[in-house]
Amino acid sequence: MYRGPARLQQIFLNLIDNAIKYTPCDGKVSLAVDSEPGWAKVSVTDTGPGIPEADLPHIFEQFYRVDKARNRNDGGSGLGLSMVRAFSEAHGGRVEIFSLPGSGCTFTVFLPLSHSGTNL
Ligand code: ADP
Repeated sequence: MYRGPARLQQIFLNLIDNAIKYTPCDGKVSLAVDSEPGWAKVSVTDTGPGIPEADLPHIFEQFYRVDKARNRNDGGSGLGLSMVRAFSEAHGGRVEIFSLPGSGCTFTVFLPLSHSGTNL
């Protein structure tokens, strides 16, 4: 249920959607694809507000939102990142975040490379 091409697509749509949503119009969103032995790495980087250090351990929890004052109408549900983590792990991968508050953040998804060329 949590695996397959549609789920992989949702991982990246969520990350790109967040990057665009939280970055001001004069900011920048960039994608990078890379690999290291055994892993494919896809990163989404933005120049938005970043995420405070105290919130980082919770950011992948269901319904967790940094700005609690915003409600579902003017923001999101707080579910996107929990799905990103669940779907990444269902593919044998993981997601990491690096953030410098005030200068944006980078989410990196690691997916295992398989010898057969597919891991779906
Ligand atoms: P939401 O639907 O609220 O965007 P998510 O699970 O996708 O829910 O994200 C959880 C919280 O993480 C968001 O409410 C926001 O506070 C923070 N967040 C996610 N992505 C970013 C980002 N690129 N820049 C700054 N904050 C972010």
